[in-house]
Amino acid sequence: MSIKFEQVTKRYQAGPVVNDVTLDIATGEFFVLLGPSGSGKSTLLRALAGLTDIQHGRILLGGRDVTHVPARERGVGFVFQHYALFRHMTVAENIEFALRVRGVRAAARRKRSTELLKLVALEGFGQRKPAQLSGGQQQRVAVARALAHEPAVLVLDEPFGALDAKIRVELRDTVREVQRRLGTTTILVTHDQEEAFTLADRIGVMHMGRLLETGTPQRLYRQPTTRFVATFLGAANLLLAQRTAEGLRFGHELAVPFEYLAALPGHRDEVVAVVRPEDVEVAESAERLAHRAFTHGHVHSSGFAGSFERLVVQAAPDSGLRTAIGHEGPGEAPLRVEVLRTAAESATLPLAPGKRVVLGLRRFHVLPTPISGVVLCASDAARREALRGDALVQQLVGSMKARVIDADDDGVALASAGTLAVAGREPPAPASAGSGLRVVPGDADAVLRLARALGHGGAVLALPPGTQLPSRALLLCTSDGARPATLGVLASVMRHLPVEATYVTVQLPTAPRAEVTASFRRLLDARAELQAAHGLDVRTEVHIGDVDGWIVGLLAAEDAPLLVLGTEATAAELAGLLAGPLRPLFQAGARLPLLLALAAARPAASAAPASALAGDYG
Ligand code: ADP
Ligand code: MG
Repeated sequence: MSIKFEQVTKRYQAGPVVNDVTLDIATGEFFVLLGPSGSGKSTLLRALAGLTDIQHGRILLGGRDVTHVPARERGVGFVFQHYALFRHMTVAENIEFALRVRGVRAAARRKRSTELLKLVALEGFGQRKPAQLSGGQQQRVAVARALAHEPAVLVLDEPFGALDAKIRVELRDTVREVQRRLGTTTILVTHDQEEAFTLADRIGVMHMGRLLETGTPQRLYRQPTTRFVATFLGAANLLLAQRTAEGLRFGHELAVPFEYLAALPGHRDEVVAVVRPEDVEVAESAERLAHRAFTHGHVHSSGFAGSFERLVVQAAPDSGLRTAIGHEGPGEAPLRVEVLRTAAESATLPLAPGKRVVLGLRRFHVLPTPISGVVLCASDAARREALRGDALVQQLVGSMKARVIDADDDGVALASAGTLAVAGREPPAPASAGSGLRVVPGDADAVLRLARALGHGGAVLALPPGTQLPSRALLLCTSDGARPATLGVLASVMRHLPVEATYVTVQLPTAPRAEVTASFRRLLDARAELQAAHGLDVRTEVHIGDVDGWIVGLLAAEDAPLLVLGTEATAAELAGLLAGPLRPLFQAGARLPLLLALAAARPAASAAPASALAGDYG
């Protein structure tokens, strides 16, 4: 039976713990949910089973809306982490329990429990009490019990969590086999990445209540969309690279002379490259590499990990290599690259700490994120510190693990230790603040100055003093042309803030009918576009009135939302917006954070498909 979550939101006082989750699971599919503790996995499953209600959205089973159907009538079998067997009943009675409450006759019950015990490889254990079974056996009984009433959907919430490694593997195989044989649509929650990769047809990764990404294990590992998923599913080096006319540049090295990279507009764009440890090649000199060198340094440490060797290579200061994670500036930790070598590779070239090496790139992946880091723009150190300490900035930086760069009022990066100039070489796009999110104190002049400096294309976050972490984000685009870039920025932010996001159009009450229709269509388009391009869902709302009044209303609200404004306006038009409808945002006492997404004038800039940025060569 198919499962469909449509914009499911579950909220407690503190905010959404499941936030606009939209997900389709096909009949017979084995879907694995991964995510850190507290990300909302159990809550989502409990909502599916009908064990908790939801505040927004719908849940469909086999096309039937079950949002308000009681748990017992949903046909969902549930296995929890703790066996939760009835201690006083025998194994057979436990399995038959769901049938007995449904009035199934004794003979039929006995037949079913015998079949199920066979299915989970516990034939002959029916008359034992749970206490006479091992943990792994008890969990098998729990699986059999969940299957007794032939649920169309089986839900397992960390079912192997409390078991030791060997038994986990056995039980995992049993579950997979039973699932295949019965064709039961299954969702399993685990925190074990290997388990997820082994079992899943498809994986979904949750973070802060949002379903960040879904895809086959291969896809999520090779081509993640977000930093979070890139680092959550296995080890990854996240490096900053410059997209230049010649190709992709890591520090001073031109690593990937891709033709298609040259064809892309926006030279010198800063991107975040995901490099898996097993995709780094090590040699004593560049000539011995099968691939082009992307950096050099020395071996910092090496460790034995069974059939693999883990090397940590410290990049040389003159390599210009930069990380996409952490803080840039004096006192910055040296940049280290993680490498994984097979035993055969280590035997061919043993490497002790201190050894000088060059690194080549077998494969890499460029994240499609429009935000490469966070740039705090204030010449005055005290104001910069205030920005750094802002709740919204802390949340974004912490969750994105984004690089933070200190810059002056004009957004020019302050001198940093990580980018030494090397004689005779072109510096890596000047300690550039790159395509980072510019953060400024909440004043209109600062916003305008930066918008001019960015030359349209980028994002500026204006923070009035003392803003609180918003629980809502409202998005407004001043034109359709601004939408793709704005949705990109919104998606980046949505993944890292526990906000409920709404796409808004503003409609004058006197608007002619055609305009009203167009306005509704815009909302549907925006939602579809966000889903297609970023896998995220957003709510939609038409505000009847004008923009000025809408903004004044927001300022008066008890909980100040984050306002995301997308515009492709020229500098003059932007100045008009800042002096007009946006003006109240910058007045004393206002505490509404504004995220301005500036759409690049060249439409092609945002048209590069994410797949064109993935590198898999050699
Ligand atoms: P996971 O299964 O991913 O670890 P959960 O779905 O159990 O996460 O919890 C998600 C969030 O919801 C957590 O922050 C948790 O504290 C919160 N939460 C769960 N149940 C309740 C509740 N009854 N009241 C308030 N908050 C809750
Ligand atoms: Mg849980």
